[in-house]
Amino acid sequence: MFFRRLMDSPWLYFALAGVALLAAVASQFERVDREVPPGEPQALASLRERQDLNVLFILIDTLRADRLSAYGYERATTPNIDALAARGIRFAKVESQSSWTKASMASLWTGIAPGQTGVMRFSQALPEKITLPAEVLQGAGFRTAGIWRNGWVANNFGFDRGFDLYYRPTPNRPSKGARRHSPSSHRLAGSDFDATQAGVEFLTGNRDHRFFLYLHYMDVHQYLYSETSPVYGSSFSDIYDSALHWVDRNVGVLVDSLRAEGILEKTVIVIASDHGEAFFEHGGEGHARNLYWEVQSVPLIIVPPFAIEGGIVVEEPVANLDIWPTVLDLIGMPALPDAEGQSLVPLILDAGGLESSPEELKGRALFAQLDRSWGGKNKNSNEIISIRREPYRFIYSQNAPEASELFNHVSDPEEQENIRGKDPEMAAVFLQEVEDFLARPKEDWEVPEVELDEMMRAQLRALGYAITPRDGVEEARHRAESDRARDGGKWKD
Ligand SMILES: [Zn+2]
Repeated sequence: MFFRRLMDSPWLYFALAGVALLAAVASQFERVDREVPPGEPQALASLRERQDLNVLFILIDTLRADRLSAYGYERATTPNIDALAARGIRFAKVESQSSWTKASMASLWTGIAPGQTGVMRFSQALPEKITLPAEVLQGAGFRTAGIWRNGWVANNFGFDRGFDLYYRPTPNRPSKGARRHSPSSHRLAGSDFDATQAGVEFLTGNRDHRFFLYLHYMDVHQYLYSETSPVYGSSFSDIYDSALHWVDRNVGVLVDSLRAEGILEKTVIVIASDHGEAFFEHGGEGHARNLYWEVQSVPLIIVPPFAIEGGIVVEEPVANLDIWPTVLDLIGMPALPDAEGQSLVPLILDAGGLESSPEELKGRALFAQLDRSWGGKNKNSNEIISIRREPYRFIYSQNAPEASELFNHVSDPEEQENIRGKDPEMAAVFLQEVEDFLARPKEDWEVPEVELDEMMRAQLRALGYAITPRDGVEEARHRAESDRARDGGKWKD
């Protein structure tokens, strides 16, 4: 009787629900505890003194910030990255320095604007005089490895300096169920899981030694996902999201293996991208053609070796130029001698509620550059330059300065309304800043010119670039664009 009454009582169900909730909360805590110890934001400032930290740098090519659930996207595309962001530092507004991989990566590694590194064309390599982060870390005794799947960062272009190991992983056939909707008819062999496996092998083999591991993922660029990835729809943009979910799983595998090796609490993880991807926001698809927000706004997440409750979100806009000055400062390594990017540590501490003086990091003008003639060796330059300074973004075209555009990026985040005519005074201010930027004296380092060998050509073709008869490079994807535009952006397999 009592039992029956109890069964009928709503309190039993409340009680059971309470127990279930407690268990769920407890297991959540247990999960977090097992992962890494908790830490207060002030512990970030003392990472400099630690002698045992590793760095895992994950570059996800072609990743626009607004597609990560960690950045508020409505689809749960990045559960693994979300978990890292939730206990780490997420930069809400990040500007890449170009929308083309090589120019952007040259700036990201050096902390120097594209026009100053001089890496603006397909044939140009990193000047040897510029110090790279891998050289700093190698010099400090780290074991260093770079594992990449994008031919634009190949050894020949000088990106291998400072790495003990620098290579493209052996491509395995993607599993039978892998889906590939590459915008290009050419395909990059293998999948990002090849890089993940090679990365896991490296970090497992170096678990007792300080290491720096750089992984450069390409499956978002390639629109490749697995049979178990969520399918969001059939448009190009939907498939991109499925590919991101797949790459996020690769990030999960890396984190799991750090945990299994017991070195998650000795590893700083950085997640970044070189540029975004357009889906007809300004009439085109892809990247490396303009500097609108969709190809320029990228994610940046820095994850300390402990869990900051609630994480830290930095709202102040920052640049990819700042990544390495920040990481090296955070772990107490010597600064890059040539970098113009700045350490964001004061901004991070400020956002973490600590006393800090980040004033000179606020309201900065963040520049990006693209020479639209990057695929031609001897073509005249056709440069565009953008400046982001809240609330504006200004886009200047060298060959048509009168067509420069000004957007209020805050009230018009999609950059649909050019307000240059409405606000000529502000446009004039930005125009002057562009002129000053271009008039800066060039550094005297030599920019090496590289001949493309057959292997590099094959790799670039696989990325969707065509080699022209005059030994220039153009994006083959571009040619299919008008067909897709007619098809409403849907990709026909
Ligand atoms: Zn890229």
